[in-house]
Amino acid sequence: MNDCIFCKIINGDIPSKKVYEDELCFAFYDIAPLAPTHFLVVPKQHIASAAEITEENASLVGHIYTVIAKLAAELGFAEGFRVVTNCGADAGQTVHHLHFHVLAGRTLGSFN
Ligand code: AMP
Ligand code: ZN
Repeated sequence: MNDCIFCKIINGDIPSKKVYEDELCFAFYDIAPLAPTHFLVVPKQHIASAAEITEENASLVGHIYTVIAKLAAELGFAEGFRVVTNCGADAGQTVHHLHFHVLAGRTLGSFN
């Protein structure tokens, strides 16, 4: 997508601090971290939000979670982390390319 900031990061048109990349997904540190470890994992395919997950693209979500589990082990926070996907304006989604926040490194309080 031409005007999507995360597509531009995936393509290297906007710089990022890369955590991981494979043929299906890209992970990079959040520019405004909310925890000592805070990165985003995004599918390379432009999917606008979690509301656009279908039977056809759902395997990407499973793949992303396997990548998150692997990174959690490699980066040393497998004992405690949070994965968050904001979907839609009411939930605070500001970038309309599906992304999974991965937060770790501090006590993460309950939320409601
Ligand atoms: P959300 O509010 O759930 O849509 O999350 C979007 C996230 O993208 C926010 O946490 C931003 O800090 C982050 N973000 C926006 N622009 C960039 C960028 N250029 N590099 C890294 N993270 C970014
Ligand atoms: Zn995009």
